[in-house]
Amino acid sequence: LTSLDGITVAETGRLRPPVLLVHGGAGRRDQPEIDPDRQQAWRNAVDTALATGTRLLASGADARTTAVETVAVLEDTGVLNAGRGAVRTSTGSVELDAAVMEGATRRLGAVAGVGRVRNPVRAADAVLAEEAWAFLAGPEADTFALAHGCEAAPPDWFLTRDDSPARDASVDPVAGDTVGAVVVDTAGRTAAATSTGGVPEQVPGRVGDSPVAGAGLWADDQTCAVSGTGLGESFLRAAAAHHVHMRLAHPGPGRPADLLDACRSALAEILAVGGYGGLIAVTPAGDHALVATTPLFIRGVAAAGKPPSVSLFAGPDRPGPPQRPGGGPGRPPAW
Ligand code: ASP
Repeated sequence: LTSLDGITVAETGRLRPPVLLVHGGAGRRDQPEIDPDRQQAWRNAVDTALATGTRLLASGADARTTAVETVAVLEDTGVLNAGRGAVRTSTGSVELDAAVMEGATRRLGAVAGVGRVRNPVRAADAVLAEEAWAFLAGPEADTFALAHGCEAAPPDWFLTRDDSPARDASVDPVAGDTVGAVVVDTAGRTAAATSTGGVPEQVPGRVGDSPVAGAGLWADDQTCAVSGTGLGESFLRAAAAHHVHMRLAHPGPGRPADLLDACRSALAEILAVGGYGGLIAVTPAGDHALVATTPLFIRGVAAAGKPPSVSLFAGPDRPGPPQRPGGGPGRPPAW
């Protein structure tokens, strides 16, 4: 399905609602570069999140609750760049961003730069539930969330990886492993949630697209729910998630609304500003699209009457690199 324009359609088609799509980030790394144990840990994380989300949907939970709780599971796994397991800023601090949007009402909750709540996505949901506000940032966002029933992170909760005392300021900030979920429930309601630690070695205070409605997520029951991952600055500059919504809301005279076309168009905008990343999106009817410009695209799909599936790469997953005779990994093959 890879096309010449640098955009890979990983999965698309019509599914029977309820539908749950999740992502665990889009990144530039290719399969031979990634440790098999790490790949397995990602698969397990997505699998567990799908199991939680599908259980919730089966018990009648609405789209928003399902999106939040599915992302909370991904935040807790410690192997993805959100909540526990998030990357560090250039000074070693943890600055977490998350948001949730409800398609039925277009209510929104978002937090940026939090580091005291265990689950940033639940903090975002607490903001949404408060009605008066949509987006809180910094230490006061933590304070708000804790005062509204969110669990505090236990001491050392976020110390899981990339925690070497000698930090390398020359590290290229490369996005990856951010998490998100989009849902359409049995009643046709949609929701989207996204959560991230940002990009490694980012300057303290930097906020990417993930908590910004219109960039890193969007949900509207008239069109779709969408969650993005990739280089945040490019998603902000392309208004990527809102672009998908607008292409469905206003496809143009004589053109049918087409989710896949809308996602490809948004990623073309991302590429046009020098960015990269992936999108997951679903419509109330169950049309879905998982599309990326990167080789790594961690994702999962669950729907009524279909066994859940997990994939790590935008193209078909391939077997790992061959072992050299006598043990030890050989040179990565040039595929
Ligand atoms: N979009 C996130 C950010 O720029 C990073 C990612 O998706 O991995 O903060």
